[in-house]
Amino acid sequence: PLQLLKNRTKKSYQLFQEAQQVMPGGVTANIKYFDPYPIMMAEAEGSRLKDVDGNEYVDYLLAYGALILGHGHHKVTNAVIRQMVTKGTTIFGTPHELEVEMAKRLVKLYPGVEQVRYTNSGTEATLLAIRLAHAYTGKSKIAKFEGHYHGGYDQVLLSINPPLDQAGPADAPVAVPDSAGIDVYYQEHTIILPFNDLEATADILKARKEELAAVVVEPVQAGFIPATESFMQGLRKLTEELGILLIFDEVKTCFRVALGGAQSLYGIKPDLTALGKVLGGGFPVGAVGGKKEIMDVASPHGKKDVFEMNVKSKKKDVLFHSGTYNGHPSVLAAGLATLDVLEEGDNFETIVRTTEKLRRGLENVLRYYQIPVQTLGLGTIFNLVMTTEPITNYRDLQNANLDLRRQLDYYLLTLGVYTKPLNRYSLSLAHSDREIQETIDAYEAAAKQLLVK
Ligand code: PMP
Repeated sequence: PLQLLKNRTKKSYQLFQEAQQVMPGGVTANIKYFDPYPIMMAEAEGSRLKDVDGNEYVDYLLAYGALILGHGHHKVTNAVIRQMVTKGTTIFGTPHELEVEMAKRLVKLYPGVEQVRYTNSGTEATLLAIRLAHAYTGKSKIAKFEGHYHGGYDQVLLSINPPLDQAGPADAPVAVPDSAGIDVYYQEHTIILPFNDLEATADILKARKEELAAVVVEPVQAGFIPATESFMQGLRKLTEELGILLIFDEVKTCFRVALGGAQSLYGIKPDLTALGKVLGGGFPVGAVGGKKEIMDVASPHGKKDVFEMNVKSKKKDVLFHSGTYNGHPSVLAAGLATLDVLEEGDNFETIVRTTEKLRRGLENVLRYYQIPVQTLGLGTIFNLVMTTEPITNYRDLQNANLDLRRQLDYYLLTLGVYTKPLNRYSLSLAHSDREIQETIDAYEAAAKQLLVK
């Protein structure tokens, strides 16, 4: 399939050569690279992408899940244009109405959210949530789960994808950096936990409770491995008892597994929640929500100048949170328009049903060709895992046949189905029965090719 792909993407290759001259690896985010070179996209509309060679794809990457209405939904585009034309392209640099409106809606939808602060990305959202936890508890360490991603900074770039020979025992994983340049300080200050293993998690948390400010968790690992009900309930109870804050990272699950996120499905109130992606309707965004008592640490109200409090008087009772673009009006206009459409009629449920249709269809095709497979996910995201063994965490995933999946993905790219090889699938309102059938047909063709080989 690689040769087929190369034959179809000659302009991508040329552009990639130019890109490599001016950007390391030709990309602006490492994750956007794949072998032999990433396909350069030129246009997008609805459920479809078109690359620089003119090839069309049904898009299941959807900007890593950020687009839930598809590309360029008219209500989102109109909301942004209206905002810019009638209210100005300005970001004001002051508080404004849309910030308040979105915050009110998040408070209504998310059980653990009583107050909100905005950021420009999911990375900044978890960063702020973790700083709030340190400030509120006065404790210096955090715990995260093996295989969980919370953004691209030092404290959490640990044990997302560790080689198993370096990762320690399954019930007591060690912190392995996922990047060059991570100071050993962070390995010492971030404790790694085994996902969906309540007993081992409890042992570690109990032993470390004096040092731990918070546990940060993706309630659905990488958007497709849900925490079991008993694990989640157990983790909430345990953290409460031990005086450790529970942070839900719902950057990926926000408006995707349910409008109220995973916490509304589990019926759990985390202490803090990080949000992002769909929240900005395709524009850069993040937010932190949480209990008023904790969020209040960031409130300068009634206090003197924040810098004076923090720096001059050395009193650290106001948490510093800033950002020139936080709560950008055009971004929030896009986010609010997205939420409006999701709440209209049964639009959200329609996307969930489309997702389920696709999952069943793909499973049926691959099983017919005796390819061992399962789909895993929740709501409007899923992934295709090439094993029939149960998958509950990062280590289980290592049993899947990645080579087979990669081969399949390359064939699919040549057949007009786009996701980055090995990536999960996100669905949108723009994906109709037609796209689903096209995709199932492409799978059938790809499966035949795989078997011929
Ligand atoms: N947390 C989770 C669970 C994510 O999926 C992501 C993005 N993939 C992030 C945090 C970081 O968000 P961003 O890319 O907007 O910084």
